[in-house]
Amino acid sequence: VERTLLLVKPDGVQRRLVGTILSRFESKGLKIVGLKMLNVTPELARKHYEEHVEKPFYPLLEEFITASPVVAIAAEGVDAISVARTMMGSTNGREAAPGTIRGDLSQSRQMNLVHGSDSPEAAKRELDIYFSAAELL
Ligand code: ATP
Ligand code: MG
Repeated sequence: VERTLLLVKPDGVQRRLVGTILSRFESKGLKIVGLKMLNVTPELARKHYEEHVEKPFYPLLEEFITASPVVAIAAEGVDAISVARTMMGSTNGREAAPGTIRGDLSQSRQMNLVHGSDSPEAAKRELDIYFSAAELL
């Protein structure tokens, strides 16, 4: 059993898709073990996206992810990391397959509604960034 960090990004909250996105993960069978709404600060964004900080798109990514609240979800299940990534679809919503969250609900490469950890190491690191031990049940 694995745990993964999922985010409903600001575009998902603004578009009133929190329930829809949470429901898709829950209906699939992932168990919610942590849940909160928060504002991502620039400092938090740089920690979360440390692999991207030097990339040309990073300033716009930081602007986007800090613009308004996100919903952070800690989810648990067998192979939760890859199950969630498969459900999300590829990064660019225009290229993501129908049936995936991004493929069904997004047409953007940046405003792609969801984040999901991409490896066990990333999941541990990201869960530590977004949740204290006491917030994970
Ligand atoms: P995430 O890490 O958010 O789950 P991902 O793993 O599919 O998404 P990454 O390559 O890690 O994609 O990029 C992180 C985020 O940065 C993307 O989800 C998207 O919001 C943004 N992003 C990635 N590439 C670009 C780009 N070329 N232009 C603009 N934004 C981008
Ligand atoms: Mg990523």
